[in-house]
Amino acid sequence: MDAEAGDSIENRVAFVFNQIRAATRKAGRVDGSVQLVGATKSVAIGDIRRAVDAGLTLAGENRLQEALPKIEALKDTGVIWHFIGRLQRRKVRSVVGIFDLIHSVDSLELAHEIDRRARAAGLRQKILLEVNIGEEHSKAGFLGDEVAGVLPQLGALDHVAVCGLMAIPPLMREPERARRYFRALRDLAARLIQQKISRISMDELSMGMSHDYEVAIEEGATLVRLGTALFGERRG
Ligand SMILES: *Cc1c(COP(=O)(O)O)cnc(C)c1O
Repeated sequence: MDAEAGDSIENRVAFVFNQIRAATRKAGRVDGSVQLVGATKSVAIGDIRRAVDAGLTLAGENRLQEALPKIEALKDTGVIWHFIGRLQRRKVRSVVGIFDLIHSVDSLELAHEIDRRARAAGLRQKILLEVNIGEEHSKAGFLGDEVAGVLPQLGALDHVAVCGLMAIPPLMREPERARRYFRALRDLAARLIQQKISRISMDELSMGMSHDYEVAIEEGATLVRLGTALFGERRG
């Protein structure tokens, strides 16, 4: 399924866009309903630029310090930045407003801090709630059963816009075995939207990485986060 290791970034980007389109159609979904987020941790600025020139419009970073010089250097491209890594409270002030969407909000406290900083900045920060869908001790995120309980409090935050859910399921050698986790996230979003809390949307499902994004798309992903498939195996 992967592009050949020797392929150029341009070819990989084109290949991935094709795969996304094919998986979207196979699932009976509308073209364009799945967006590609390039996961750019440890990727050189020049390589990100090549991907953007080849059509990548969204880039996801895990760490603020690593992101800032990239954001500065790639300003002219218009690429939009998402925050996809673990976010510490003391970093929130710098993240708010710079990143269009924060995928990784894993606690009410963090959401409150984002709200506070977004208010100070005079904006409304789009966020996703990270769900620990495999209930793994090693992973961050709300437990599936917790989300319904915190939603009313999140809906009361004026400067936060909850746009949906994100998950990183347990790593499965066989992508097909991740399907039930993707399905569980989609089902959870469908249940949560029934709560009809004003200003909370479940439009976005951020799920699927290089080895399993096609399965994720079949199960309803709207944002897939791909690193290796675009940039090759990470160095270091
Ligand atoms: C690195 C990373 C990805 C991309 O992983 P690949 O397997 O290289 O596609 C996606 N999401 C998050 C949160 C990541 O840290």
